[in-house]
Amino acid sequence: MIADPLYARAAATPGRPFLLFGDRSITYGAMAALVDDAVERLAAQGVTAGSTVAMMVGNRPGFLVAWFALSELGAIAVPLNTALVGEGLRYLLEQSEASLLIAEEEFLPALPAAAPALLPMDDRFETAAGPGRAPRRRLALPGGTANAILYTSGTTGLPKGAVIPNACYELAGEHMAAALELTEEDRILLFLPLFHANPQMYGVMSCLRAGAALALLPRFSASRLLEDARRYGATGFTYVGTVLSILAKRLTGPERGHTLRWAVGGGAPPGVWREIEERLGLAVRELYGMTETGGWVSMNTAQAAKFGSVGAPRPDTELCVVDADDTPLPPGAKGEIVVRPRRPGLMFDGYWKKPEATVAATRNLWLHTGDRGMIDADGFLHFDGRMKELIRRAGEMIAPVEIETALLKHPAVQDCAVVGVADDILGEEIKAVIVPRPGFDPRDLPAFLTGRIPAFMIPRFIEMRTEIPKTATQKVQRHLLQDRPGDVVDLGRHK
Ligand code: ATP
Ligand code: MG
Repeated sequence: MIADPLYARAAATPGRPFLLFGDRSITYGAMAALVDDAVERLAAQGVTAGSTVAMMVGNRPGFLVAWFALSELGAIAVPLNTALVGEGLRYLLEQSEASLLIAEEEFLPALPAAAPALLPMDDRFETAAGPGRAPRRRLALPGGTANAILYTSGTTGLPKGAVIPNACYELAGEHMAAALELTEEDRILLFLPLFHANPQMYGVMSCLRAGAALALLPRFSASRLLEDARRYGATGFTYVGTVLSILAKRLTGPERGHTLRWAVGGGAPPGVWREIEERLGLAVRELYGMTETGGWVSMNTAQAAKFGSVGAPRPDTELCVVDADDTPLPPGAKGEIVVRPRRPGLMFDGYWKKPEATVAATRNLWLHTGDRGMIDADGFLHFDGRMKELIRRAGEMIAPVEIETALLKHPAVQDCAVVGVADDILGEEIKAVIVPRPGFDPRDLPAFLTGRIPAFMIPRFIEMRTEIPKTATQKVQRHLLQDRPGDVVDLGRHK
């Protein structure tokens, strides 16, 4: 059970800090007491083993209290993206078949008419009821029991609910604590939304395992990150690619006088990775993973790392690159990344109420990630992009992120995304969607890009927009940019 280490620490070292939030410091002992109170409250609402309970809760202590309490009852938590409104929210509430919704007041206006029964997320989840309650007898549940339904980011379409077993969280925490060499003295800064697998697996679970502390922030702010890190004495944080890119853009020179030693996550372009390491003097621990794999599959650990790769496979995970017929490819060859757990409970337990999608994803007993990559001669995985998003132009397979990284170096490009658009002759042509700064002229781009990327990667079409559509986890929704409306600049076909 995910709260096992919490209760073990609460018994052994109750006074050690577990959670820092604003001016509050909640010890392991106090956290266990809050969870006990919440278990009673949830049980009184009819929550039992197997209930699905949706949560619309931002980053605050109550999120963790409710999540742990649900797991103590054997219930399945469905942490929803708090930015959801309208049809997207209605779909997930209905698809998850949640019988109860724990929500903060500010999200109530977004709820559809046919929402499940409501339990407000309020101070009672975060304030101890007081002494005098008899110690609670904890349920003993098998590790294979479902802990949560985590909806995928929805980068490529409708999100799918990955059913995550308790064991998966526990193993992720165990391996992450080892990979980061965490100790009780670590303080992990968490600003990514807690409804996402990244902070849960890499932050919360590894913290519990190591007996370390979490410093929880309501949201990411590039301008405040270092200040917050200093204030809490943070030793590391978890990231997604955009976070590091935004941070790198702000850093103009070396920044020291902080206690940060590491940052863990996925999606940092190599240039950004290097810049962050040099400017902040910390180790970027880039990894590869997806919701379905219950977190990371490979990682640049404290023990083995290679710049530019997404690391070596986790010891309990088998990783392989295959061609379209599922034949394993030799080192150096590019193909689809497929993964297989070496023990039960390590990955997702299928998509919630989507048997066809589950079967399709796990062909030949390997989880087919839909991502393209290569394993090098030293056994490190290199990530190339999503297969669906690769641009196939005149026989070349082009990863959009390479072009985007080059475009972002242009001073008048504030943000951008690159997609393939259908072309009769070449199969696909390249379109760059640009959020311009004043003075941007699309005609400058070919000269700017020449020498930075090969000629065949220079975009032919340039479209200007005021923003790039992104998911809550800040991933570009490229599929929303594919059509080629009239207001694009055609720079003409080139080699
Ligand atoms: P959906 O499946 O709903 O379209 P999603 O795939 O974005 O959403 P997640 O499970 O949050 O949802 O993300 C996993 C994906 O993120 C991987 O399949 C891969 O494409 C991408 N990814 C993982 N690691 C990295 C990395 N190190 N660099 C870049 N992208 C990565
Ligand atoms: Mg996916």
